[in-house]
Amino acid sequence: MDLKELYRDVILDHNRRPRNFGPLEGANHRAEGNNPLCGDRLTLAVRLAGDRIEDIRFEGSGCAISTASASLMTEAVKGKDRASVRQLFERIHALLTQPDAAADPALGKLAALSGVREFPARVKCASLCWHTLNAALASPSGAATVSTE
Ligand code: ZN
Repeated sequence: MDLKELYRDVILDHNRRPRNFGPLEGANHRAEGNNPLCGDRLTLAVRLAGDRIEDIRFEGSGCAISTASASLMTEAVKGKDRASVRQLFERIHALLTQPDAAADPALGKLAALSGVREFPARVKCASLCWHTLNAALASPSGAATVSTE
């Protein structure tokens, strides 16, 4: 199995069985993300304890890329503090937008999203959850909304 197949399998697996999917009890930060270009909709609920993401879950519906990306993201950021999340976001952003970015070992399974950059229209599908997370963390209490358009 080559790397591309491995990456594709990770995406398919996380689309079929999204991790951390469903409502979150005791969430204190929320945001909604919308990617009208593809029709992806995402609601992110975060329980922030001090500076650390204690728990995070998502709901919504979208294409395979957006669902898998949100699933992978929730796994990756759970337990991390804001600074680590910001670093991870920068790495993901580079992975999705720089054609020759090498897969960063720190990305772990998130590296599976690197195939998306061959399809520029899908980059927004993959990055929607990250922009939504930034909005959720930036909003002190209530609900934030982001759109890729
Ligand atoms: Zn999409």
